[in-house]
Amino acid sequence: MRIENDVKLGFKDVMFRPKRSTLSSRAQVDVERTFKFLHTETAWTGVPVMAANMDTVGTFDMALALAAKRMFTAIHKHYTIEEWGQFLSGAGKGIENYIAVSTGTGNQDLEKAERIFQNHPSLKFLCIDVANGYSEHFVAFVKKARETFPDKVIMAGNVVTGEMVEELLLAGADIVKVGIGPGSVCTTRVKTGVGYPQLSAIIECADAAHGIGGQIISDGGCTTPGDVAKAFGAGADFVMLGGMLAGHDESGGEVVERDGRRYKQFYGMSSSTAMDKHAGGVAEYRASEGKTVEVDYRGPVEQTVQDILGGLRSTCTYVGASRLKELTKRTTFIRVAEQENRVYNG
Ligand code: 5GP
Repeated sequence: MRIENDVKLGFKDVMFRPKRSTLSSRAQVDVERTFKFLHTETAWTGVPVMAANMDTVGTFDMALALAAKRMFTAIHKHYTIEEWGQFLSGAGKGIENYIAVSTGTGNQDLEKAERIFQNHPSLKFLCIDVANGYSEHFVAFVKKARETFPDKVIMAGNVVTGEMVEELLLAGADIVKVGIGPGSVCTTRVKTGVGYPQLSAIIECADAAHGIGGQIISDGGCTTPGDVAKAFGAGADFVMLGGMLAGHDESGGEVVERDGRRYKQFYGMSSSTAMDKHAGGVAEYRASEGKTVEVDYRGPVEQTVQDILGGLRSTCTYVGASRLKELTKRTTFIRVAEQENRVYNG
């Protein structure tokens, strides 16, 4: 047994130290980024905030709403090939820049992804998503996917440590998804005791990825626009959101009304709710169970998006970053023992 004694931090453990700045308004801040990818010729420009590939978040409707803001959606893997066809014949041109096809590591999943790419060669992004990105089987799958799809941008995860980020990038991933256990409807840490505080995971994994020309997605754990900004400040190239985008019109599922309040269901992709819905197909997706919760119904996602991007722009002005690209360089985190004043939070 070994203990690592240096402290690992989560979003709640830090704040940005404000810095002198010449920026006079947050409207001056550019939150778009352009990336070139490690294994493909593709370049991408957009706002690097993305909807998670969960069936109550990463829907076709969400993709339409987010693409209008040049944001990205990892489409969940449970749509049929026919549904993909219908969506792409309806959605405007350019949507292929803002969506990924998702897959697990099952053979059926891969066959389905192959069919979707064959039918729609303009699609560019593949998201390979498993609970535990540390298995040899997963690395082999990423290699196979790179051979099968030489010209697609491959996102793969999830992992939380630098050496595994390097291994996945060398195996063929362009972007590595980072996060084990921080998710709002995730019970991995409770069920297994495994995890890594997300801010430290980002700092360490970004360093590893950037060293060899790859990118990372911070996946899970953001509960406020401030957390999204902290993820970027720590070095994330993209930030993936589940819970923060749940509960909207675009999130799928029914609105339920009780005692005059409206709610929407939101659940982890390995919760019993997801298992029941996609029987047989989800069991291997996450090692641990996920939760099923009801979140307040929040109307169209546009207002939430404005809130997130407004917060991010404001963070940039506080630290003097005129572009999101500069945020990490301008970031000094201070460790804290408090966050917001909750006296009126009930
Ligand atoms: P959130 O933004 O809600 O905090 O986190 C979203 C992330 O939680 C997803 O992108 C995914 O990585 C993770 N996740 C989704 N469903 C489950 C689940 O059932 N179990 C676990 N362990 N993680 C999940």
